[in-house]
Amino acid sequence: MAMVQSMQDVNSYRDLNWEGSLSDYLHIVDKNPKVARTAFQRVFDLILTYGTEEFTEYKKKITRYKFFEDPFENGKDAVFGLDVHLMKLLNAFKAAARQYGTEKRILLLHGPVGSAKSTVVRLIKKGIEAYSKTPDGALYSYAWLKNDLDDTRGIFGTANEIRCPMHEEPLRLIPLELREKMLGHINKNLSEAEKIILEGDLCPACRYIYKELLLCYKGDWAKTMEHIKVRRIILSEKDRIGIGTFQPKDEKNQDSTELTGDINYRKIAEYGSDSDPRAFNFDGEFNIANRGLIEFIEVLKLDVAFLYDLLGASQEHKIKPKKFSQTDIDEVIIGHTNEAEFKRFQSNEYMEALRDRTVRIDLPYITKLHEEIKIYEKDYKQGRIRGKHIAPHTLEMAAMWAVLTRLEEPKKANLTLMQKLKLYDGKSLPGFTEDNVKELRKEATREGLEGISPRYIQDKISNALVGEMGAGCINPFMVLNELESGLRHHSLLKNDEQRKRFAELLAVVKEEYEDTVKNEVQRAISADEEAITRLCSNYIDNVKAYTQKERVKNKYTGQDEEPDERLMRSIEEKIDIPESRKDDFRREIMNYIGALAIEGKQFNYRMNERLHKALELKLFEDQKDSIKLTSLVSSVVDKDTQEKIDVVKSRLIKNYGYCEVCATDMLNFVASIFARGDIKERGHN
Ligand SMILES: [Zn+2]
Ligand SMILES: [Zn+2]
Repeated sequence: MAMVQSMQDVNSYRDLNWEGSLSDYLHIVDKNPKVARTAFQRVFDLILTYGTEEFTEYKKKITRYKFFEDPFENGKDAVFGLDVHLMKLLNAFKAAARQYGTEKRILLLHGPVGSAKSTVVRLIKKGIEAYSKTPDGALYSYAWLKNDLDDTRGIFGTANEIRCPMHEEPLRLIPLELREKMLGHINKNLSEAEKIILEGDLCPACRYIYKELLLCYKGDWAKTMEHIKVRRIILSEKDRIGIGTFQPKDEKNQDSTELTGDINYRKIAEYGSDSDPRAFNFDGEFNIANRGLIEFIEVLKLDVAFLYDLLGASQEHKIKPKKFSQTDIDEVIIGHTNEAEFKRFQSNEYMEALRDRTVRIDLPYITKLHEEIKIYEKDYKQGRIRGKHIAPHTLEMAAMWAVLTRLEEPKKANLTLMQKLKLYDGKSLPGFTEDNVKELRKEATREGLEGISPRYIQDKISNALVGEMGAGCINPFMVLNELESGLRHHSLLKNDEQRKRFAELLAVVKEEYEDTVKNEVQRAISADEEAITRLCSNYIDNVKAYTQKERVKNKYTGQDEEPDERLMRSIEEKIDIPESRKDDFRREIMNYIGALAIEGKQFNYRMNERLHKALELKLFEDQKDSIKLTSLVSSVVDKDTQEKIDVVKSRLIKNYGYCEVCATDMLNFVASIFARGDIKERGHN
């Protein structure tokens, strides 16, 4: 077993470090033309490698690319809730891979601070690195070997081997006049999408060596090529191969050498001229990112003077290092920008040329609650947070608030913001169809471009986790309080009005939390199946007697009695069945039971959702008094009540994810709500 393992390692090491002659490489290309793909073709294929899923939303087919779940680091950089936007990005890659024009554009990821822009780029960087290590994603470059050349012209200086500083595609060594024939041969059996595209000339450093060697060999190309060693390359940001990043510093400090390379002053003395390519470091970000991808962080902060570099790089696939002629590049250029910068950009006339040459991909904040929750669940997986429990609904409530701050107030008067959030989240509301929801989305054009970022939420949850509050467990209130107090110093808020609105939305979330836990306690109390079955059969017996105008046998006394109208109504009222509709409701149930009986089946309360709910509520009401939840608020609890409370608590722990601490806290909280309710009711009387 271990031997096989080590043999495989040796094999893969040998593959990853493959070296050979140019003619060996031509054999590889012949067998597998994919090795010579352009950077855009490579990125597009990479993303497809991980497969897709399809689903329908608002009657439109959406493709989800599993690549964005981050298969490289177990979901660490997974992107959630942006399927539609990522589809647009993929379409841009596809068009660029097929040379429909997008390959001449800068891909501009646009969204608010803290949206998934840099995560998306980071993922692609990780992806192309990993892909280049697989047989499917293999790619090659070359080095010049001195061999036994009598180097009277001093081409190699003191070196025996010079690698192409821009890790170019070896096929570029083939003279232009031969290329067409060669490409025709390789491409003849390939589909349009797979065809190899070969553009551009050697980089200045290689062109120099090439020409000098050709001179030595009096124009013999084959002899010149004997100095070529083709080698497999692995793209790597750390090693500065095929992956580059550029972040403009403040405007006065920008230097084009960071993009296109710099003179090596030490070597000018050696080679006598600053225009000798051997006295130049082709190590700008554009140079080293050749074959892969260059990321421009906050690209719109780029000094106008360097815009030309950027425009040339995208439009012409050429860069211009100081003192040298145009140099061909093949790389994906992807920039990102936040909202504020983008607005300035749109009104800046100097930037007009750039505006024309970008493909904008919006990456807004998430507006679907369940997708937003995934972000925090990923961050705070149990086990990652040692020694602390996170109470149920804590992450959910924080996420809910974040999403609410991003939504625009609905124009429909009969719809609250919370209801809109639920509609977006895929919940149904009476009177709202899918088309209505689509409409809502349409009318809110700035949705997701403003509001609270996931980063703020993450920071505040972390604060709550390290805080002194809570005995080993944090609950929604601790996090909501953190979120609220942070608002005072939040630097990204526009004005006090926004601050006030966001604070108000916290109150909306707290209300929703009250409802959620009230429901949960109700369900935990009435989770007693036996009791609910008993209540159900009691109800059905009475309804049957009522509809058939019979009497009911009292199980204790054996006496026939009138149907218990009070019992039936107390259940029906729980689901708002008015006196005038009660006969219909009861008849429907009896008809249903009758139909079942014909098929030989027996009725069970789970078959009728409304009745089920009514029974639960009724049972809760009956038990609420018997376990005196409200008495929890006072500190004196009798033994009998305590036992019942313990049963409910253990259900909360077993079935709802609570721990001892948060189950107690939550029950106290719900008790206080009911106590408040009791006072209100008493006030009515
Ligand atoms: Zn080169
Ligand atoms: Zn807990």
